[in-house]
Amino acid sequence: MSVKNRLAIVVPCFNEQEVLIETTKRLSEVIIKCVDAGKISDDSYILFVNDGSSDRTWEIVQEQSKVNRYVCGVNLAGNVGHQNALLAGLSVAADNCDIAISIDADLQDDVNAISKMIDKYEKGCDIVYGVRDSRATDTLFKRYTAQKFYKLMKGLGVKCIYNHADFRLMSNRAIRFLLRYEERNLFLRGMVPTIGYKTDSVTYDRSKRMAGESKYPLMKMLSFAFDGITSFSVRPIHFVLYSGVFFILIAIAIFSYVTYSFFTGNVVPGWTSLMLSLWLCSGCVLLGLGVVGEYIGKIYMEVKRRPRYNIENVLLHEQNC
Ligand code: UDP
Ligand code: MG
Repeated sequence: MSVKNRLAIVVPCFNEQEVLIETTKRLSEVIIKCVDAGKISDDSYILFVNDGSSDRTWEIVQEQSKVNRYVCGVNLAGNVGHQNALLAGLSVAADNCDIAISIDADLQDDVNAISKMIDKYEKGCDIVYGVRDSRATDTLFKRYTAQKFYKLMKGLGVKCIYNHADFRLMSNRAIRFLLRYEERNLFLRGMVPTIGYKTDSVTYDRSKRMAGESKYPLMKMLSFAFDGITSFSVRPIHFVLYSGVFFILIAIAIFSYVTYSFFTGNVVPGWTSLMLSLWLCSGCVLLGLGVVGEYIGKIYMEVKRRPRYNIENVLLHEQNC
């Protein structure tokens, strides 16, 4: 019989006292089911990451860990945000698991998808994305803005999985590679697809938050979306450059129009020079900004110091070693 995989379910928690006990119960049931089905080893566990909560979250994790042997926890010294908390959890899990699945504490993501994700891992996938099948439980506003956001990201050239958030399985080697990304501005759902390896997805219906409030109010959501765009794409800078070129082209077209008007005497004094300088100067300013921006964009990409490649296998003949 093959050696079974040790699973870590990583759950970032920020003020989640209302949901934690139910979450523990449901995730433990999933672990027990998967252990019984022979999919994972019995030392698999849930790793709650307390992201500087001000309520009883950490106390509940400690209490639960005394009565439930599947419950483990990481307590962060302060609130660092969902993405950083998740990465902290993955970094702890990396030394203690074969596979890790990240899931939100409110269980909006379907826990039954976990077993399907493990099946895909067994079939050779290193990363399995949880993809929302329907957004029926989201508000119309959230549904609309989320869809537009994914389209915009795609248009900006960011590799992003449509309707996938942070519910995903990663193999140990995929986590280890992710931990080599040195950037501070985290947007994991954009970073993970750049790792490579064989990937697949599992679809599920997203339900409503079990209890408690969303920890992503509108402003936080918008700033997260903005982070996603600016962390992954320098196309907005290209846009400034192109608009500079566009304005200069318009200035050239306007040049013939205003000269014609000037000579036919159909203008008030000063209009010709004003019109010309307006378009030409704006064009030159934008072009200059765009050129400076291109350099800043390059510096931005450089300072991330991301690994440049991910070698999966090396095949060498002995005489070449
Ligand atoms: N979260 C966190 N730190 C934060 C904000 C949120 O760890 O600063 C966690 C939160 O406890 C939850 C997950 O991130 O497990 C997603 O948050 P939430 O469900 O509130 O977001 P929504 O589903 O409303 O977008
Ligand atoms: Mg939620």
